Amino acid sequence: MQSEQNGFKIRAHHLFCMQGFQGYGYSPAFVSNMREVVSALNREPCLKLELVSGCDDICACCPNRLECSRQASEKAGRIKGMDHFVLEKLGLGDGTVLEAGELFRLVHKKLRNASCIEAVCGNCGWRDKCLWYLQKNG
Ligand code: SF4
Ligand code: SF4
Repeated sequence: MQSEQNGFKIRAHHLFCMQGFQGYGYSPAFVSNMREVVSALNREPCLKLELVSGCDDICACCPNRLECSRQASEKAGRIKGMDHFVLEKLGLGDGTVLEAGELFRLVHKKLRNASCIEAVCGNCGWRDKCLWYLQKNG
């Protein structure tokens, strides 16, 4: 993981997931890492995020990371599609670096509506534990 001072590498659809996080996740190590990243961004919204459409600093502690980084896997393709959807709606390219607070503001302005949330979260197994999904509107 990049150091907190240098910001984080974050896959685009995780801009949703970080805001919906309620302490659940794929493993204790995943949860602990996710909590660390989310807390750092809450403390310092001026931290820089590099937006990507591949494995990031949250995936780094996920037990599914090998499957999600395999080029040919169906799951990897589906999740990359979620990232591309978010990037396209934000009007930002892969590799864009912006402050976390600014990115969250953009997400709220352009993607916080029921159709965009359904497009990204529709097949996610965490919907019933995710504040972002449960509070969808539009
Ligand atoms: S429902 Fe799933 S994909 Fe959507 S924000 Fe929550 S954890 Fe992320
Ligand atoms: S399921 Fe895949 S995309 Fe989601 S955090 Fe784990 S490795 Fe990353």
